[in-house]
Amino acid sequence: IEESETTLRPPICCVMGHVDTGKTKLLDSIKRTNVQKTEAGGITQQISATYIPTENIRERTKDLKADAKIDVTGLLVIDTPGHESFNNLRSRGSSLCDVAILVVDITNGLQPQTIESIELLKMKNTDVIENDKPLVVVALNKVDRLYGWKTFPDVPIANALKLQSSDVQLEFKDKVTKIITQFKEQGVNTELFYKNKDRLDTYSIVPTSAISGQGIPELLLLLVQWAQKTMIEKLTYRSDLVEGTVMEVKVTEGLGTTIDVILVNGVLHKGDEIVGPIHTTIRSLLTPRPVTELHIKGDYIYHKEIKATQVIKITAQNLEHAVAGTAVYVVRTNDDLARYKKLVMEDMRNIMSRIDKNGKGVYVQASTLGSLEAFIVLLNSKDANIPVGDFGIGPVHKKDVLKASVMLNKREEFSTILALDVKVTPEARELADKLEVRIFTDDVSFRLFEQFKVYFNSVKE
Ligand code: GDP
Ligand code: MG
Repeated sequence: IEESETTLRPPICCVMGHVDTGKTKLLDSIKRTNVQKTEAGGITQQISATYIPTENIRERTKDLKADAKIDVTGLLVIDTPGHESFNNLRSRGSSLCDVAILVVDITNGLQPQTIESIELLKMKNTDVIENDKPLVVVALNKVDRLYGWKTFPDVPIANALKLQSSDVQLEFKDKVTKIITQFKEQGVNTELFYKNKDRLDTYSIVPTSAISGQGIPELLLLLVQWAQKTMIEKLTYRSDLVEGTVMEVKVTEGLGTTIDVILVNGVLHKGDEIVGPIHTTIRSLLTPRPVTELHIKGDYIYHKEIKATQVIKITAQNLEHAVAGTAVYVVRTNDDLARYKKLVMEDMRNIMSRIDKNGKGVYVQASTLGSLEAFIVLLNSKDANIPVGDFGIGPVHKKDVLKASVMLNKREEFSTILALDVKVTPEARELADKLEVRIFTDDVSFRLFEQFKVYFNSVKE
């Protein structure tokens, strides 16, 4: 019998939270490295993601004198390039993230997008997969903004707190108590990480400053320690299964329409036949050329095959019909195609179940399947109670306006397109003006929601 060696894949980490809480800054701070850029120790920038190797995390957390070995193979952090829908990436009804950092600004407490993130993290999977929900750590960011805060760069945050003046300590305690209560109101238990004994059901709060880097080692350590403690099965690399999700569909200069796919498990080959909402053959598999090799021509390295876990850019025909947030399946046998097509339909099932049975409601258009689902959940929520009649993904085209216009003689106020983080084509805009279909746009869901609510309340009067 062949001894099968188990290898682990890195946990996929998403950074979520309200705008301006410091998500980007925190990511920059996480990426900052003390380790020399050797093959093993170097942080590698991927498309829309950054790989932080274990060696780097060990170095970063060595002052914490953590006894536990860090066995997890690094961390793959998804970047959020001002493109908040990345936070909502879900695949087959479950979150793409294994671990999540929920950033809260200590001076502001919970904000609309924090609450939205909590809803997303709580969202149940329809297929029952164990260990499905991501492990969440709250970064209580901008502690340095507390009046009178003193920065002790290399002192662990728990000790740094004790070194603050009594005024600062009091203010900190007051803020934390309020925020824990706010979380409780959302049905979530939270506790400061050094007091938290029940880390699976209670989110740990790590005070951080993305500016000084304080709290970042603690954040990293918690994530990797708990991932290795609770997720070994989920993180065991599978070569027999290709598991990938489309992160983005976009036009790349010189390459036409491409898809960026996060390959979680398995191997992809040039020439592989893939299905999602599209059915095509991989023409090329690309990864960005490392900065150190930029003198060589071309921005990308072409691969014959590529192994998980990483983000890959794929070129192929028909990609303009791909949908961000959907799974990618590889067809290897004759039976595969029908089976996978069925699975693709199931991906949509969840959303279909959330739209009004009589088709009476607003028309929602979003950039990814995940952000679409999250937005519909928000509209359907008890407080809002706004029905959704139909939906689309990608830019708003004329056909979407036509679909939205069917509401004109049913419920006039619902002949509205809510366009979340997508472009509206000039032709669609023109047709909408002519038919008197309203289009509201925003790239942040709660703002789009507010826009519609203001309008909705004004017509109700
Ligand atoms: P994002 O919208 O969540 O990505 O937030 P950014 O990372 O862009 O940060 C928003 C603003 O807050 C920027 O001006 C940052 O410099 C600032 N900021 C972020 N983190 C901290 C922090 O820990 N302390 C302080 N004082 N400012 C911060
Ligand atoms: Mg940002």
